[in-house]
Amino acid sequence: MPNGANTHCPYCALQCAMSLTPAASTQPGSGPAPAAKALPVLEVSGRDFPTNRGGLCRKGWTSASLLNHSGRVTEPLLKGSDGVHRPVSWDQALMLVTGAVKQTREKYGPDAVGVFGGGGLTNEKAYQLGKFARLALGTSRIDYNGRFCMSSAAAAGNRAFGVDRGLPFPVEDLDSASVIFLLGSNVAETMPPFVQHLKGARDSGGLIVADPRRSATAAFTGDGGGIHLQPTPGTDLALILGISHVVVHEGLADTQYLEDRTSGYTAIVRSLAGFWPERVQSITGVPATLIRETARRLAHGARNGGSYILTGRGVEQHVDGTDTATAAINLSLLLGLPGSSRSGYGTLTGQGNGQGGREHGQKADQLPGYRKITDPAARAHVAAVWGVDERLIPGPGLPAVELLKSLGKPDGVRCLFVHGANVAVSAPDANAVIDGLRSLDFLVVCDFFLSETALEADLVLPVTQWAEEEGTLTNLEGRVLRRRKALTPPAGVRSELWLMARLAELLDAPSTFSDDPETVFEELRLASSGGLADYSGIDYAMLDRGEAAYWPYPAGSSGTPRLFLDGFAHADRRAVMVPVVPGKRPASSAVVLSDTQPLTLVTGRLLEHYQSGAQTRRVAELDAAQPEALLQIHPSTAAARGISRGDFAVVSNDRGEVLCKVELSNTIRTDTVFLPFHFPGAGSANRLTEAATDPVSGMPEFKSSTVRVRKATAI
Ligand code: SF4
Repeated sequence: MPNGANTHCPYCALQCAMSLTPAASTQPGSGPAPAAKALPVLEVSGRDFPTNRGGLCRKGWTSASLLNHSGRVTEPLLKGSDGVHRPVSWDQALMLVTGAVKQTREKYGPDAVGVFGGGGLTNEKAYQLGKFARLALGTSRIDYNGRFCMSSAAAAGNRAFGVDRGLPFPVEDLDSASVIFLLGSNVAETMPPFVQHLKGARDSGGLIVADPRRSATAAFTGDGGGIHLQPTPGTDLALILGISHVVVHEGLADTQYLEDRTSGYTAIVRSLAGFWPERVQSITGVPATLIRETARRLAHGARNGGSYILTGRGVEQHVDGTDTATAAINLSLLLGLPGSSRSGYGTLTGQGNGQGGREHGQKADQLPGYRKITDPAARAHVAAVWGVDERLIPGPGLPAVELLKSLGKPDGVRCLFVHGANVAVSAPDANAVIDGLRSLDFLVVCDFFLSETALEADLVLPVTQWAEEEGTLTNLEGRVLRRRKALTPPAGVRSELWLMARLAELLDAPSTFSDDPETVFEELRLASSGGLADYSGIDYAMLDRGEAAYWPYPAGSSGTPRLFLDGFAHADRRAVMVPVVPGKRPASSAVVLSDTQPLTLVTGRLLEHYQSGAQTRRVAELDAAQPEALLQIHPSTAAARGISRGDFAVVSNDRGEVLCKVELSNTIRTDTVFLPFHFPGAGSANRLTEAATDPVSGMPEFKSSTVRVRKATAI
């Protein structure tokens, strides 16, 4: 019987607050639900909270229907030689995993075991997974799908500010802004309740959106006289440099701020010399007049009410993503925005715990507290908390794309654990990823559904869902929130903390692993203490009282809702301005097709679906609204290829082929097509994206792939 709880949405980083109450059909005396239709056992209602103010999107409203979904995995499943998954007991499952790990380590060494985590795991699970990989499995090879999400913005933030926290200010600060410049973010579809925070700027003509498509968010700019910049995909960096050029050359920069709070300004001015608006227009396709107007409005806003620059995946998911985010930060520094109480720069984290997931040890190069794994002091601190010799903590592992490329290879990963990720759909060059999964000696997938990745697994382990567990998550503002248990999980399901604790015992791990979330959080507090993401002053009791807890929150402090007010996190308290200019894109991203009119493919999200769609495609209402991938294409581009409304098209390049229906749209450029990445199989957009990565962050190129498009003649 469900008990209900106040908790937060299981999906995106806005972490909208919701209440879960027993559904009428599950309350005593209401009688059984009709056998043919599994009605949700909990009812969802929006709860007042600063990020959502009671609002939820379609995904949030329908999230409870997955808890008792008929496709839920409720017992461990072992794949037989015929390829069919059949139930086994938990004892058998644990023995199989233990045997596979030991055998792999003996045959190939500990780094042949790998772990792929997820940005939806709670802080407790993310922390424990990092510790489990390094101590129980003894491998350096752990990374997570957050690498695909905002690693480039994180790298740029660390470089400029000395620390990366998605939004270094509360979301509510945006309400009073005069100007908000959104670069590559379609919040109207990805996190609709966020739009209310844009209203003030939008109504006064201060909303500026850069997006190759006239997305739902870009369309808002038409309401109040805002600006939509529609650059050629992959030219965002040049666009930002063009705006920065105007700021410098029209005397709009905040020179006092630059002198007092930054270093590197002179080199930035030199680097901008070649990016005058008319030249940038020729690179990006954005009219020089709009480039100038954007710079002027941002500068005017900074002096009158506040200006904010916010980046999203559209500008970050590129092979030059770190440089593009760096350019956006430089622009914000030129205008004096970061570290002001009414202006700022931020990046809009995507996944539910994308922020916390990267702070506590899931990343290949980090230890809890956002510590560098190569830093001797950090290693000594964490080793002391774990009660082990620091030499037992392996060094840096492989970033996500490299880890996936290594699957089944000599010196690569031969036995892989996947937690909370569906890489068969969400990773770039998905065909190659699926081949890699199939070449493994042993694949263990922890999930609550048979996702496309779970279908490839030797062993599927059923784990608890969001409403069945206690824990914490850290939202896009760096605010730590409580996830609360509202429902008893099905009998055969276990929490990942329990799983890691049992396996650690069986593998004779040199440290203890608790299966109690609060106990794990208490250990996380100690491990993070003194780090950049210090959680030592946060505990469950204060979160339960509703206190706002923004990190860094050292013990004895009151947390940090607004970062950088007194200085940046570098030793000299200054922000570092790093000059960046567009470079040569890697050969694989400039694939030459025999087609005389190649197009650029942009991938992205839809209102109804979340990430790989493993969850939302199973929600009846969401599936009915968006059941398949549609190729968005401009009518004239389609007509040139003999494609009409309702036709099927083949989208292809040297990595793969996608077959999907077309959706004619005037909102897209004529040289660009768009595919959502939520769908598997024939409609899987990531069959076409490439695994080339940003050299600084390891971010793959999701937003600019060269493709050919033709009408499908037979289906
Ligand atoms: Fe959930 Fe994000 Fe929708 Fe809010 S905006 S209800 S957190 S998916």
